[in-house]
Amino acid sequence: MQFSDLGLSEKVLRAVEKSGYTTPTPIQAQAIPHVLAGRDVLGIAQTGTGKTAAFTLPMLCRLEQGRARARVPRTLILEPTRELAAQVEESFNKYGAEHRLNVALLIGGVSFGDQETKIMRGADVLIATPGRLLDFFERGKLLLTGIEILVIDEADRMLDMGFIPDIEKICKLVPFTRQTLFFSATMPPEITRLTEQFLHNPARVEVARAASTASTITQTLVASHGGGDKRETLRRLLRSAEGLKNAIVFCNRKRDVAIVYKSLEKHGFPAGALHGDMDQAARMASLDAFKNGAVDILVCSDVAARGLDIPDVSHVFNFDVPTHSEDYVHRIGRTGRAGRAGHALTIVTDHDLKYIAQIEDLIHKQIDWEGPRLEELPPAEYVARDRERAARAGERPRRGGRGGRQDGERAGRERTGRDRSAGRRRGDGEETAAAPHEEARRPEPSRAEAERTEAPRSRRAGRPPENEPRRKAPRRRDEDDAPVVGMGDHVPSFLLRSTRVKTVKTAD
Ligand code: AMP
Repeated sequence: MQFSDLGLSEKVLRAVEKSGYTTPTPIQAQAIPHVLAGRDVLGIAQTGTGKTAAFTLPMLCRLEQGRARARVPRTLILEPTRELAAQVEESFNKYGAEHRLNVALLIGGVSFGDQETKIMRGADVLIATPGRLLDFFERGKLLLTGIEILVIDEADRMLDMGFIPDIEKICKLVPFTRQTLFFSATMPPEITRLTEQFLHNPARVEVARAASTASTITQTLVASHGGGDKRETLRRLLRSAEGLKNAIVFCNRKRDVAIVYKSLEKHGFPAGALHGDMDQAARMASLDAFKNGAVDILVCSDVAARGLDIPDVSHVFNFDVPTHSEDYVHRIGRTGRAGRAGHALTIVTDHDLKYIAQIEDLIHKQIDWEGPRLEELPPAEYVARDRERAARAGERPRRGGRGGRQDGERAGRERTGRDRSAGRRRGDGEETAAAPHEEARRPEPSRAEAERTEAPRSRRAGRPPENEPRRKAPRRRDEDDAPVVGMGDHVPSFLLRSTRVKTVKTAD
């Protein structure tokens, strides 16, 4: 099957050729003819399958006829996050270079004024997050009566984030006769109900869910004690991993993303972070810094990383074992792409063994241990004592000390083989990485702030906010972090050492 067999226009075929794509992916081959024929499509596919082009390319063909009017966009694409919306905009710019279309982005965290100007000019394509779209609509700045094609992307993630009531509302605001393209990686009952309500005789296009891992990825387990020992293990792996060029470090919770990021920074590893509580600018800065190589390590949570088109990386580290085995497959799929070699190392503690068993079941493969297995690990006290002894002997940079930081920085630089003095100097205004530890300390945002940062409207309407546990079955731990008390379970070992307290007598 070739792109030229799918019925795409000459202009679009030229853009595809320029992108360097030779053959359509399965979702593209199956969905594009239906979209071009004007049918509703239900696409069951996740990111990484080429689904963005599966709707962008035929939409461009459809948009070649007709013009947009002020305030009345012609097509609407709903995305759950600002990053995904920005990614879709990039796709339109890439494939639609010859089309001279107006593409407008309506996302939280960006000024209303600039966005309004674009809408006023007449948008052929409007890419929006649901909350910001409804804000615009309710302020009377936008009419949805001209929508010819509605795309709902990552619907199951919209569900996770509490956006379904907003989606229902939007579906009722656009004309009944529009064409709807609906994409979801999974089909929980709430999503099925939505498709039954809003899709008209859709063509169902399904791409197999990831349950297997590429054979080019070497997968290993690394035993560790919990708490600070995990961070020490991670640093050791980062220093010693063979062929490490860049790495993504996955944590299960937002708070751990912030802690691990901060710890890596402190030990001189050039790192960025990505988690759901960071504001838009900080998230974009982190992602850009990683994409352009200003930092080599990106610490992130599943939810923040899901759907992002992050370039191929040499290593994936699971700082925490994912509790949903499918997340393991997605995480390690970030490496070893297109036949290249990739490495996935998973840090495992006593508590994780049951999740490892589930992962091995899913991928039909036993993952080997690198170094001692859990039962062969020296007891935690020995490990801590050895580490203290090494620190006293100056084998390791001291925490927070000036000399220590420089040493650590050198180690990180040597390890990743790049000089990033230009990218991460603090005092000279050239900071590239975000500072999520500052985010982690940030107090609860004000109502206005929450709206600005695209908090789901359910929160504003008094419904449970997106990152509170869903009552029935919490889907992801990243979304249900309880507030951390003190240092949580990350108390540094020096604070746990017993000390003698001197009593001082005072004269009464
Ligand atoms: P998506 O699933 O839309 O996020 O796409 C994942 C990645 O696949 C993106 O980096 C696309 O640029 C790339 N891609 C999309 N279609 C093709 C294709 N037909 N051939 C090769 N790469 C593609």
